[in-house]
Amino acid sequence: MEPMDKPPFNFPTLTIVDDGAPDSIAVTKPSTNGNRADGPASNHSKVVILGSGPAGLTAAIYAARANLEPIVIGGYAPGGQLMITSDVENYPGFPDGIQGPELMQKFREQAERFGTRFVDVDAEAVDFSARPFRLWADRTEYTADSVIVATGASALWLGLDNETRLRGRGVSACATCDGFFFRGKKVAVVGGGDTALEEATFLTRFATEVVLLHRRDSLRGSKIMQERALANPKISMRWNTEIADVLGEDKVNALLLRDTVSGELSEEPAEGLFVAIGYKPNTDVLRDWLEVDDKGYLVVTDETHSRVDGVFVAGDVHDHRYRQAVTAAGDGCKAAIDAERWLESQGIAEAVTATAW
Ligand code: NAP
Repeated sequence: MEPMDKPPFNFPTLTIVDDGAPDSIAVTKPSTNGNRADGPASNHSKVVILGSGPAGLTAAIYAARANLEPIVIGGYAPGGQLMITSDVENYPGFPDGIQGPELMQKFREQAERFGTRFVDVDAEAVDFSARPFRLWADRTEYTADSVIVATGASALWLGLDNETRLRGRGVSACATCDGFFFRGKKVAVVGGGDTALEEATFLTRFATEVVLLHRRDSLRGSKIMQERALANPKISMRWNTEIADVLGEDKVNALLLRDTVSGELSEEPAEGLFVAIGYKPNTDVLRDWLEVDDKGYLVVTDETHSRVDGVFVAGDVHDHRYRQAVTAAGDGCKAAIDAERWLESQGIAEAVTATAW
């Protein structure tokens, strides 16, 4: 790739985190520390981290403790997928569980404590052709001796016109954000993985009935979450079912369903549709520079290294196998250690910082 002469502001904006929440819905977000990198502080850092989920924030904690003074470009909706997750019961250290947004707030406070600077805007473009690397966010240019890419993955949508039209008016990809609005109503969830099972179970707190729609006759989700969802008297399962259309003028009032075996169409009354069919990696501004695999995920070599020397990768943006908060956090730690060692090898960071681990 050729270096860029000027900021490519006409580039499509990278949405680092698509929380799936309509604009009108308030999602709890971590506060900014007021120490924005477009203020008096320098726009250069030894490490710029793209993304503010568990991977990015763990990388920030480690890099900050190693005196690398990281800048996190965390997106307009910082915090990653845990911001739209309700009970997190499998993150070690929280025996009673913790809410996803609260967990991310704690990550962020820990990163701030050691001097991380946060810029809560989307990265618009990067230039990895020469060092220092160049990055643009909110029309500000940043430069970095090394970069950690931890941009995560975003919720997928079915791709129906009426699904798009009715987003925020009954269609959602975030039960944690929007479930409250469906108190006393009947809703549907589409998908057969852990996300769909988790969303369906969560929605029973509000809805009178939750219909889980899955296109096959067996679920993909983990056994424990299947058992929990299927045992819930408010959840009914519709197997071999896909959504042909979302019905309603100003808001959702029914779904047009297709039987995937017989092809038969039927109408299911519902006032909400929660789409929980998986994620896509957030690589839009990176794919010209970094290698992607056939599913669009970034390719790593030797744990967190990318094909560009000095650019490291962590979390769900490359991991479609584990995709857990704890594995993403572990990955962020590894990326920060790799970045620090690489900076040391380049004579940019002092060897003494390695004791911070
Ligand atoms: P997933 O495991 O990829 O499951 C996606 C589901 O959506 C599948 O059942 C798939 O059907 C269905 N699907 C995909 N495209 C569809 C379409 N166009 N129309 C209808 N259905 C469609 O994704 P996920 O549930 O989001 O989970 C992702 C990862 O996160 C997993 O590793 C999961 O274990 C993890 N996770 C963990 C927790 C937890 O532990 N608390 C919570 C959420 C997620 P098929 O089965 O037919 O392919």
